[in-house]
Amino acid sequence: MLSSYALDSHVIQKELCTGCGACQGLCPYWGSSRGRTICYYDCERSDGRCQRFCPRMPTDLAALQKKAFPSETILPELGPYRALYLARAKDPEIRGGAQHGGVVSALTELALREGLIDGALLTRAQDTLDPSGVIVTDPDDVRRCSGSSFQIPPTLAVLNQALREDKLHRIGVVGTPCKTLAVYKMRYDPLPENDNHIGNIRLVIGLFCGWGLDWDGLESLTKRSAAAGAAHVDILPSKYHSMEFALRGGSDVVSVNLDEVLPLIRPACRACADMTSEFADLSVGGARSADGWDTDKKWNQIIVRSKTGEELIELARSRGILEFKDVPDTALDKLKKASLGKKRTAVRTLHERCGGLGYLAPNEKLLPAVE
Ligand SMILES: Cc1cc2nc3c(=O)[nH]c(=O)nc-3n(C[C@H](O)[C@H](O)[C@H](O)COP(=O)(O)OP(=O)(O)OC[C@H]3O[C@@H](n4cnc5c(N)ncnc54)[C@H](O)[C@@H]3O)c2cc1C
Ligand code: SF4
Ligand code: SF4
Repeated sequence: MLSSYALDSHVIQKELCTGCGACQGLCPYWGSSRGRTICYYDCERSDGRCQRFCPRMPTDLAALQKKAFPSETILPELGPYRALYLARAKDPEIRGGAQHGGVVSALTELALREGLIDGALLTRAQDTLDPSGVIVTDPDDVRRCSGSSFQIPPTLAVLNQALREDKLHRIGVVGTPCKTLAVYKMRYDPLPENDNHIGNIRLVIGLFCGWGLDWDGLESLTKRSAAAGAAHVDILPSKYHSMEFALRGGSDVVSVNLDEVLPLIRPACRACADMTSEFADLSVGGARSADGWDTDKKWNQIIVRSKTGEELIELARSRGILEFKDVPDTALDKLKKASLGKKRTAVRTLHERCGGLGYLAPNEKLLPAVE
């Protein structure tokens, strides 16, 4: 089977392409423009790295999970699990520019400062509807990448280039679940010739992710709503049914009804079964507690999944980088329920679109009772 043909027929034609960029930066034949993945040449290799790393090519997730987390507890709804924390960055300056509590930026800065990593793959999302992947080596540059882009830039193309150059030997990756899955496919099912230096990846911080948006759709929505150039975009908890755009240089906020946003969701996101980045050392999302959204919006939930993740959290605690608060008894169950909801939607979508489990096959055992 032709490699570009396989990606085209299994992923792009089925509207499963997440735009992650894992197929790019490896050869000149695959590229991307404003969130669309483009095949420039119908390559004849049957063992192309593009299809091997793609998170939407069928993968034995159970086998991958076993290889990556051999001794961890696996929760069927949430994946590998050691602990759940509620935390935020202690530094108010980090919190000020961050999406929620600034945990991701604070941990990335710490990992760079302490030499645990010598580069971090981040997404430059601030003040722009044209986000891009970037490798940051100076801890002082991490904050420039704080915040979330709800468009999905092909960040992993930048990672692939950095790995091939082999100049950085301890790389940290921050990414959405589709991206972290691709990274674990690279790590635990490496190329026999290992010319992508995959051992250089030392830390993966995953983000929680409900969905991403179409690039052009989001741009026209912001123009229509007088929110063009918004400095900060957030999706509120479901009871608010809205997306908020905080305008640059002031306290003005434009609120848009979610009914206008939902049609802009990338079709691939409706078939995505991972809400919490199940392949990562740590996964970080917005907090949900009894304190209400005004408080929660500046706190994070953290799922610790591996020893590497736990060591980084303990380092942050000992250095006073993060502050913690008690996790409500109901938090884990709420998270499981939300995660299961996303898995159910994905399975329904895949049945409709592919007549089966699509890229999730053969993983029936990994999926809890979703139907
Ligand atoms: C598309 C998308 C959907 C999300 N949906 C949810 C959700 O439903 N529920 C929830 O709780 N949280 C969601 N998140 C995660 C949330 O927005 C925060 O990233 C997370 O809570 C960490 O907050 P923080 O303050 O620690 O982040 P910050 O300290 O501000 O750091 C955020 C990091 O995210 C990286 N980043 C930004 N945009 C992207 C992107 N598109 N792809 C990869 N990396 C990126 C930046 O490089 C930065 O390092 C989503 C994030 C994205 C990108
Ligand atoms: S999901 Fe990622 S790797 Fe797969 S085709 Fe799309 S951009 Fe390429
Ligand atoms: S919903 Fe899934 S496919 Fe879409 S951006 Fe998030 S992780 Fe990627």
